[in-house]
Amino acid sequence: MDISVVVPLFNEEESLPELTSWIARVMDANGFSYEIILIDDGSNDRSWEVVEKLHLQNPDIKAIKFRRNYGKSAALQVGFTEAQGNVVITMDADLQDNPEEIPELYQLITEQQFDLVSGWKKKRYDPLLSKNIPSKFFNWIARRSSGIKIHDFNCGLKAYRRQVVKSIEVYGEMHRYIPILAKWAGFRKIGEKVVQHQERKYGVTKFGFERFLRGPLDLLSVIFIAKFSKRPMHFFGLMGSLVFLAGLIAAASVGIHKLIALANQVPAPKVTESPYFYLALTAMIIGSQLFLAGFIGELVSRNASERNKYLIEKKIS
Ligand code: UDP
Ligand code: MG
Repeated sequence: MDISVVVPLFNEEESLPELTSWIARVMDANGFSYEIILIDDGSNDRSWEVVEKLHLQNPDIKAIKFRRNYGKSAALQVGFTEAQGNVVITMDADLQDNPEEIPELYQLITEQQFDLVSGWKKKRYDPLLSKNIPSKFFNWIARRSSGIKIHDFNCGLKAYRRQVVKSIEVYGEMHRYIPILAKWAGFRKIGEKVVQHQERKYGVTKFGFERFLRGPLDLLSVIFIAKFSKRPMHFFGLMGSLVFLAGLIAAASVGIHKLIALANQVPAPKVTESPYFYLALTAMIIGSQLFLAGFIGELVSRNASERNKYLIEKKIS
């Protein structure tokens, strides 16, 4: 199979018929063998009924229904697990991404050997204040910290070499930074293509400002994960141990000073009068706090099987 088109959707009943027939038209016109995988991320409108009907009209449309809303990342992840195509395209359900871009994206992967090509909504039709400006800022940070020279990390329209989607794990709000996950997994040829963007035709945006606040935290953890491999909390544990050790050495030197003074029978100041005493105490307290932070991180990560716990209610294949 040439292409899997993975589409996460949450309350997009109006867009789906137009979207899927448009994708099918582009695929047929270019002679691609394909599947469209629709992931209903717990919609509470009639999206799933629409999906079932669409499958009856076109058997290349497959679908998964989550039991509740788990978020775009979980939806993408399950789509990635299911995808069978050599090239995997992700796109939003709301008709903001243009299916006509698919053939060129496909070529960039198969002919130019890109691992991942991210769409760039250079001319973007979204609200300036709540979307475009904050997104410019996050993209700048993501670019600086990851060294990946693309402008629109979070663009819903992307193309992947099959191995990429099988090698990464998208969870939390990580769908915003998939190129970083891919680079971390060892896929280095990452490019971008300017894509057309439309205004949302039906329905409303699902990502308000509130969801934006989670973004920076995820970016921070993605950078940490990339820098400290699988166990970022070891960084805190190590820092804690070092600071604690420094405190211990300072405490020992205060103690030894006192002992030497006693042995030589010279008057020694009280231990608590030495400035090093407080330095040592502070370092030991901070060190153990940091160490605890690392330990909590460790505990949390051992519980992180939480990541992939999404319940699939129905599946059409
Ligand atoms: N989406 C999803 N789960 C969610 C929120 C959104 O699957 O919890 C889908 C949504 O249906 C759409 C895509 O993710 O297909 C992008 O969402 P949206 O268009 O609302 O985001 P925006 O374009 O405004 O950033
Ligand atoms: Mg949208």
